[in-house]
Amino acid sequence: MIRRTALLLVILWPHAIWADVIVRRVDTTLDGPDGTVTVTLSEPAPWTVRMLGAPPALAVGLPPGAAADAALDLRTGPDGSMVLRVPLPVAATVASAEMRTGTDAAVIAIDIRMNPQPVEDVLGDAGTGAVTIALDPGHGGVDPGALRGTANEADLMLSFAREVAEVLRRAGFRVVLTREDDAFVSLPGRVSAARAAGADVLLSLHADAVAGGGASGATIYALSTDDPDALTAELLTRHGQGDRLAGVELDAPGDEVAGVLMDLARQDTGPRAEALADDLLDAFRDAGIDLHKRPLQGAAFTVLKAPEIPSLLLELGFMSDPRDLRNIQDPVWRAIMAQAIADGIAAWTLDDAVAAGRRMR
Ligand SMILES: [Zn+2]
Repeated sequence: MIRRTALLLVILWPHAIWADVIVRRVDTTLDGPDGTVTVTLSEPAPWTVRMLGAPPALAVGLPPGAAADAALDLRTGPDGSMVLRVPLPVAATVASAEMRTGTDAAVIAIDIRMNPQPVEDVLGDAGTGAVTIALDPGHGGVDPGALRGTANEADLMLSFAREVAEVLRRAGFRVVLTREDDAFVSLPGRVSAARAAGADVLLSLHADAVAGGGASGATIYALSTDDPDALTAELLTRHGQGDRLAGVELDAPGDEVAGVLMDLARQDTGPRAEALADDLLDAFRDAGIDLHKRPLQGAAFTVLKAPEIPSLLLELGFMSDPRDLRNIQDPVWRAIMAQAIADGIAAWTLDDAVAAGRRMR
């Protein structure tokens, strides 16, 4: 699949387009447990960032054709994209990253958090608010989502996200919402909000209605580029509707380039997201929540595409199913579901810290 996308990239983006991108300089500032790495480019370009293990380093992905001064460690990646390696003195995690563009340069600013402490300390952090969960209430504004009677998905998901946030905060997590009211936020905007907040997890909340009936029960989607089945294809269309209504340009030029680069970053994030899905499904089963007959599925939802944040899309159930609709509107069921989500995330936080410790060694 990666190879096929890479081929597409060559067709869509002749080499010359990015051949002007030059890495001008790299600066690393370390200050106690935090630090900042800035990468100055001659002009804006698609980019990705991910952390490499032993020895610790940042890998900044840049488009094919990008060049750099010989003193910098810029290599050609397996798919033809360029990878700039920035060595770090100790293991760290990416707290946030953004590109700032000026008149004659673009700067990728990457805030990092040093984590040289042993696994036990990482585990200790887990319960004290160090882990940030971004909850994404689906739809909003011009896009109400599914409608059944007087209920709409956008409002139900916003209320539910607030309820989950409350449970998570009581459990010691830091929580951000990608929208705080009935506002329209584009799909890429939701991902940006999570990244800007330094989210460790992004969970998008939905309860769509689907044609044909038959779909019922909680379903978790992880990122996959496999061809979608009929239900997934319908959900992909539904979730893109808001952006189309609001005139957000989908598949903007550059997305294909970024997509290939992001495949590299997702090599770490993908398995972490799937582990989170497993822990959530275990918690749902323990809580007696009805699950879809295939409760874990894959789809290329835009909100799942943050390369460095394990991200999942949860259909709590389907508003087209009468029993699911009753559950989603029932405060008791919602409280049980909110607690199950918090339990699943808490279990994963510990699993993930142990796995991170293993990766570090
Ligand atoms: Zn939805």
